[in-house]
Amino acid sequence: MDLFEYQGKQYFARFGIPISKGGVADTVDEAVARAEDAGYPVVVKAQVKVGGRGKAGGVKLAADAAEVRTHAGAILGLDIKGHVVKRLWIEHASDIAKEYYASFTLDRSAKKHLGMLSAEGGVEIEEVAATNPDAIALLHVDPVDGLSLEAAREWVARATLDPAAREQAAELLVRLYACFTEGDCDLAEVNPLILTPEGRVHALDAKVTLDDNAAFRHPEWEEFAGTDVEDEREARARARGLNYIGLSGSVGIIANGAGLAMSTLDVVNQVGGSAANFLDIGGGANADVMAAALEVINSDPAVLSILVNIFGGITRVDEVAKGVLEALDRVDISSPIVLRLDGTNAEAGRQILAPHLSDRLVAEPTMLDAARRAVALAGGQS
Ligand code: GDP
Ligand code: MN
Repeated sequence: MDLFEYQGKQYFARFGIPISKGGVADTVDEAVARAEDAGYPVVVKAQVKVGGRGKAGGVKLAADAAEVRTHAGAILGLDIKGHVVKRLWIEHASDIAKEYYASFTLDRSAKKHLGMLSAEGGVEIEEVAATNPDAIALLHVDPVDGLSLEAAREWVARATLDPAAREQAAELLVRLYACFTEGDCDLAEVNPLILTPEGRVHALDAKVTLDDNAAFRHPEWEEFAGTDVEDEREARARARGLNYIGLSGSVGIIANGAGLAMSTLDVVNQVGGSAANFLDIGGGANADVMAAALEVINSDPAVLSILVNIFGGITRVDEVAKGVLEALDRVDISSPIVLRLDGTNAEAGRQILAPHLSDRLVAEPTMLDAARRAVALAGGQS
């Protein structure tokens, strides 16, 4: 789950990472009230889960209440890369001497945590990585050892942060690492991390992605629920208890077992198509589950064909076949369906389906044939 900047900053604060004084506002009047609390000058900041708000006009300095009104009025409702601003974060403005970049994420191939630190912050890190990769000091942290203050001191020197910033930055990085690990983040990013003219180092922005798999040990994450912008299709699937992930292609996928579902995506890709989703209906592929799966896939306007790939093990194919027919009775499906049913009781399943096959309900003997057919029905290469 991605957090808004204001949530990320409040998360940072729990781990002792310094942030500016501020508050959230959903209206212009609230914005003025928060500005009075924070003390002028303030920054009025759009809260959307997308970067580059500054460039898009979503971050503005205001010297007094009149300017807060102007900027808050302009930013509320602003569309930033498809995200409409409904909430603002108003904080006391900082003077900036230097802008740095700092983040922790997971490097799966190295099986370690990866810290990135750069004296060239403020701009998008992808840009720095492309134009001046040497300006990013990487640090692999072994999760068993953690990040010591000594290692952080070496790191800030290697990243050539200004001497005046180094000790505070090293301390802040140790805290950011604690936030990343104990706080169960997939990403903890500060851009910019600033040095003020008075010599204070603190976080001016926060980008935090929480690891949803750790939610069970973070009851306090409840407060973030409902603020996550989620794929509507995924919300629909979750309401039906389905294991679904939305993708951007045109072939809807229903398979039993996560491994088979992933293989199905691969085969669809291999034959020149692209999947609209991952969907594992699990072991008990009965009519209810099949109907729910077809409903969710059918509600995705990008879907042009549906590939049902079931390999019966404990699940019996004749039951699946009945499930598909029952589901089709209940749900009006707008895309043609290609079935590949194999495994336990496959022959019985095929006999059940035989009288119902048409150009809208097609059976293919193998996964590859089924994928080719589904991709062709979706209009070929997509
Ligand atoms: P982003 O564009 O979505 O990454 O939003 P940021 O929170 O990083 O803000 C964008 C830019 O606005 C920063 O890189 C700063 O240059 C500027 N900015 C943000 N807060 C302040 C502040 O308190 N004072 C000043 N002077 N500039 C700020
Ligand atoms: Mn930023």
